[in-house]
Amino acid sequence: MSSHDALRNDIKNAIRNVPDFPKPGIQFKDITPVLADPRLFAGCIDLLIDGLKPGDVDFVVGIDARGFIFAAAAALKLKAGFVPVRKKGKLPYQTHEESYDLEYGSNTVAIHVDAVHQDSKVLLVDDLLATGGTAAAAVQLLRRLGAKIVGVSFVIELAFLNGRAKLPDAPVHALIDY
Ligand code: AMP
Repeated sequence: MSSHDALRNDIKNAIRNVPDFPKPGIQFKDITPVLADPRLFAGCIDLLIDGLKPGDVDFVVGIDARGFIFAAAAALKLKAGFVPVRKKGKLPYQTHEESYDLEYGSNTVAIHVDAVHQDSKVLLVDDLLATGGTAAAAVQLLRRLGAKIVGVSFVIELAFLNGRAKLPDAPVHALIDY
């Protein structure tokens, strides 16, 4: 087993599955035990940015809220800026917004209009890819600002939900699949 595979295994073993949170039927993947272990947290960041070096991206964009934790650490390692994509109503300055459908209702995410620039190289990061709606909306926001999406990286992918299908034009990576 390669050292990367061993690290992935250790991260997977540390992720806690919490049944029926926040509502019945959801198997919530709790990454807090990974964050609490400095070897696993650092290992996650190294794997999320595997293949990238300082200069390859201008910004690491994190998705509200757990994505911020991983994206901020990745940004520091890549000597890039950090940019938040937040839920509607949280960012103080002028924003672009993008809505997407959920099983019941819809969600809206937002980015500051000047967060990235035309042709900025961007890595998008979140903790988990489920149906892909959130990440696809974030990609739309970044494209509206003219960014070039170098990659979209997740710690966890719920592969059976086929969220990748909503991210056809960006290289998608996940450390761990379920
Ligand atoms: P989606 O838009 O369906 O891909 O959902 C992705 C977003 O919802 C991510 O920001 C995740 O943090 C969160 N999420 C969805 N499903 C789960 C789950 N089973 N466990 C933890 N977080 C989840």
